[in-house]
Amino acid sequence: MRSGEPYAVGDKVLVIDSKDRRYLVTLRDGGEFHTHAGLIPHSLFVGQPEGTTLRATSGARYLTLRPTLSEFVLSMPRGAQVVYPKDLGPLLMLADVHGGVRILEAGVGSGALSMAMLQAGASVTGYEIRADFAATALRNVHSFLGAEVDYRIEERDVYEGIDGAIFDGHGLDRVVLDLPEPWRVVKPAETALHPGGIFVSYLPTIGQVAQLHEALEESAFGLAKTIEVLQRSWHVAGQSVRPDHRMVAHTGFLTSARLLVPDS
Ligand code: SAH
Repeated sequence: MRSGEPYAVGDKVLVIDSKDRRYLVTLRDGGEFHTHAGLIPHSLFVGQPEGTTLRATSGARYLTLRPTLSEFVLSMPRGAQVVYPKDLGPLLMLADVHGGVRILEAGVGSGALSMAMLQAGASVTGYEIRADFAATALRNVHSFLGAEVDYRIEERDVYEGIDGAIFDGHGLDRVVLDLPEPWRVVKPAETALHPGGIFVSYLPTIGQVAQLHEALEESAFGLAKTIEVLQRSWHVAGQSVRPDHRMVAHTGFLTSARLLVPDS
């Protein structure tokens, strides 16, 4: 993404209408953005700075901006359910993701979590059992972050183990999971991670969380903890300042643990 530059052919642009409906557009030579309120030729975007309001043939106004990662995740093509931005930020902190950190991620799904970790500078190997999801994730990641990211997906079942030679034998710093039975990955993660390494799992239900904690307790992992993240947006308009009436009450629980050296 070329922040600060005017729009050019090939750029992704988020187009927002007066009702806050959002459309993701990739600018093409001769392309047109069609809406119920007429159309906007892509040539009208090209050369404009971000933040420009464009008018469709009907006169309706559309705000245009390059999408942030959060905005892209919510508008990109999805195979599997994505981890929402509300949880992506905290996941980056729990897994302490930074430049050069080597991560095994499973399953990869649509690639939203991969993108957040790659944008923070990580090297990511993903295990995904579904070839179609793996293909969608690769397309999403490369279309938003470019082809230079350090990312690969292997079509395999993480319950069958983590390849000991992962990252060419340079060792594994993190295991980050978004799949139904993460307790089955505790033993493989114990073997693959170095001491101090971090295990993080995203789970939708608390029964799964309890089962994961049981497995962690019987392992060399310690400091296991679980959080959930509640985000409440506010309506702010003049003197009317109050929480919005609706909120997303639940997405998932985030569990993390560190691999320790057994105290004999
Ligand atoms: N975190 C992803 C969404 C993951 S959805 C995102 O933000 O986009 C869960 C994924 O786990 C699905 O794609 C499913 O196919 C995959 N999966 C389930 N069990 C698996 C296993 N044992 N090994 C590898 N992938 C698995």
